[in-house]
Amino acid sequence: MVGIVLVSHSAAIAEGAKELSLQMAQGDVRVATAGGIDDPDNPIGTDPTKVMAAIKAVDQGDGVLVLMDLGSALLSAEVALDMLPEEETARVRLCSAPIIEGAVAAVLQASLGVSLEVVAAEALTAFETKKFQLADSPFSIGEQVQEQISEPIDEALSKEFVLQNPLGIHARPAAKIVQLAASADADVWLEKEGQRVRADSINQVAMLSARYGDTVTLHAKGSGAALALKEFQALYDDNFGDSLAEVNGEKLQEITSNSEGGIAASHGMAVAPALWFESAFTEPVHQPIDDPHVELARLKDALNTSKDELNTLQKEASKALSAEQADIFTAHSLILEDPELLDQVEAHIRSDNTYAERAWYKAVTGFAERYRQLDDPYMQARANDVVDVGKRVMRVLTGEEVVSFNPPDPVILLANDLLPSQTASLPKDKVLGIITEQGGATSHAAIIARSLGIPAVVGAQSAVRHIENGDLVALDGASGRVWHNPSDEEVSKLKELSLKEEQKKIEAIQSAQAPAVTADGITLSIKANIASPADAHQALENGADGVGLFRTEFLFFDREEAPTEEEQVTLYTDAAKALKGSVLTVRTLDVGGDKPLPYLQAMEEDNPFLGVRGVRLSLMHADVFRVQIKALLRVSDEYPIAIMFPMVSHTGQLDEIYAVVEEAKQELRDEGKAFDEHPKLGIMVEVPAAVALADSLAQRVQFFSLGTNDLAQYVMAADRGNRYVSDLSDALQPAVLKMIKDTVTAGNAAGIPVSICGELGGNVNALPVLLGLGLTELSMSAPLIPIVKKRIRELRVDECRRIAEEALGLADAKRVAAFLE
Ligand code: PEP
Ligand code: MG
Repeated sequence: MVGIVLVSHSAAIAEGAKELSLQMAQGDVRVATAGGIDDPDNPIGTDPTKVMAAIKAVDQGDGVLVLMDLGSALLSAEVALDMLPEEETARVRLCSAPIIEGAVAAVLQASLGVSLEVVAAEALTAFETKKFQLADSPFSIGEQVQEQISEPIDEALSKEFVLQNPLGIHARPAAKIVQLAASADADVWLEKEGQRVRADSINQVAMLSARYGDTVTLHAKGSGAALALKEFQALYDDNFGDSLAEVNGEKLQEITSNSEGGIAASHGMAVAPALWFESAFTEPVHQPIDDPHVELARLKDALNTSKDELNTLQKEASKALSAEQADIFTAHSLILEDPELLDQVEAHIRSDNTYAERAWYKAVTGFAERYRQLDDPYMQARANDVVDVGKRVMRVLTGEEVVSFNPPDPVILLANDLLPSQTASLPKDKVLGIITEQGGATSHAAIIARSLGIPAVVGAQSAVRHIENGDLVALDGASGRVWHNPSDEEVSKLKELSLKEEQKKIEAIQSAQAPAVTADGITLSIKANIASPADAHQALENGADGVGLFRTEFLFFDREEAPTEEEQVTLYTDAAKALKGSVLTVRTLDVGGDKPLPYLQAMEEDNPFLGVRGVRLSLMHADVFRVQIKALLRVSDEYPIAIMFPMVSHTGQLDEIYAVVEEAKQELRDEGKAFDEHPKLGIMVEVPAAVALADSLAQRVQFFSLGTNDLAQYVMAADRGNRYVSDLSDALQPAVLKMIKDTVTAGNAAGIPVSICGELGGNVNALPVLLGLGLTELSMSAPLIPIVKKRIRELRVDECRRIAEEALGLADAKRVAAFLE
């Protein structure tokens, strides 16, 4: 017997239609409903998963007829069919009959045991019957509607709109339009492709079936016409209150010509075609296999690993209360479980006798293509999701790791996230901008982008996930905004702003070599953060008074083993030489956290940022540590070198560190190699314990340098790379400012210099607070130096003290930032 499914925005309507139609039927017909959505606050809507479940509940093999009310009910039914295996879909028909009349007719026919085609035909005639019955009634309004639709619109005000809300004018937007039209002091019509309907009729507006991308024209005639147009414009600008589309449990966000964004990571603007930094999803060549079971087992493992990854992502997203993103990962997991997809992979493995990668590729691309063929943009977006999941599994299957990025033409690089080493090796002339889905402003990829001078926005997942390779993208790294397919007007505005920024930079560079002296005569030392000897040249060109932080870990990446003592001597000498007598502050190896180094870190860590990081790892590998110290001591013989130890948390660690330094010196003496017996030794203050113990640590070192990136993450217990807590890991949090103040006080009391080498040091807006807290030495990405120096010359330290005091008393980083603006 044919089963019937009733889909409505309202659970009550669906249930009512079921009750009514079952009363008419003679036999025991299977009728299932899919009404409303599982949201107690807003239960009106349709859900494809409910439709799918309803179809499954009534499918006995003889066919299923689905009747829907309007708008997204149609879409949900179509999506449900896409979610079903092909052989089940073949037995289902979507029927355009109105839900009540159709349900009654269809259930009655089904109860007679006739075929699906007969049930459908009967349902389709139901509305005709009603029209026929009413045709002669003096109360019928059918003809009147017709008359009004053909009313002339000569004097009407008209405006075209290209629909941007993903589901188009479905039930809820239609209701808003009708309310607007009904209350307007004007006649209002909506037109699509020559078909004009009354805008105060819900059925007629919905009947237009205006979808995303369609052009509709609003006509309004009468004294309130201008107001009606204005109100419609406001509805349109607000996406009819419907910027999020619910499709298959997944919410899509369109950004088209609007700007969205993430976290500002590196100043500057850029406009260019997008290119995702990831391996392309290319077809693996065929290779025969010996045993399909082996391939099936490999596939199963890869699917499980991918599912684990998605679960973790889903949990992270939902912990951060971002249901929208959590839903995306849930939807991706569902794709991984899709029985049809998996059947196809298995069939390819067996019938083509090919290995899992190729079978997976074929099944995924076939599946995605089916979505691409559909007109609907939300359906097409599902194709991207399928490919996204496809790439994830492929990466696991192939064990693929790092890929290099070298496009032929300039692009804006899009990536889920970037490793610091990947960022460092980007070609600057080809990468005009970077946008990542993950990450925070002080994650190392962001820091490297800043030092390369590449504009960057991080943590911008919702803004970029629908951008495809080749789409035009614009970004503003100062505000964190991202534009997808910006209009010509937006592009020229951005270019104009970008030119102005460039002009400011050029002006600042002209005075970059002059010292940074405040308006009341205090001289500051402005140094550079570098990651390679080449950066040292750039530092001097930008007016650096030396290097305040050489992140030596970048010399250890992209290799199989640590560089030798001789290699290190050459590298440090190159950097020191470039500085022409200014000090080179070299930080010993600081790997771990978001900078893993596989050949030294064999251990798995649940919390790498709280694990064997920085000097903890060096002390664990004293041999590697000693080699680095020896190289630095040797270079100190000829050049002014300061050695800085990261992540120091107590004085006991200093004992251990100094023991290694002594061993290094002794070895050099034994080898007859020259070195400075008393190079300056200092520590990064970046663990709260170091602030607490600043008085005693200050007795044992020659300088402090505040690592505010880590200090902020550890003080605020907020991962610096996690965009969901980026407002907490902000170094402008008053708690962090208080720690800076305490460190400066301890340093001053002990008579040792205190500087900042965290990203806060290069934050132009934060300068009044830093000067006010007593800092006289700052270290930052080289491109920031000219602007920072210029700003310092405008400040007075006595005023800055007042500003710092006030900032310390504010509630949170957001308020401090607003106050400083
Ligand atoms: C810091 O933590 O502020 C710092 C400068 O070190 P890194 O960013 O390399 O961890
Ligand atoms: Mg640090």
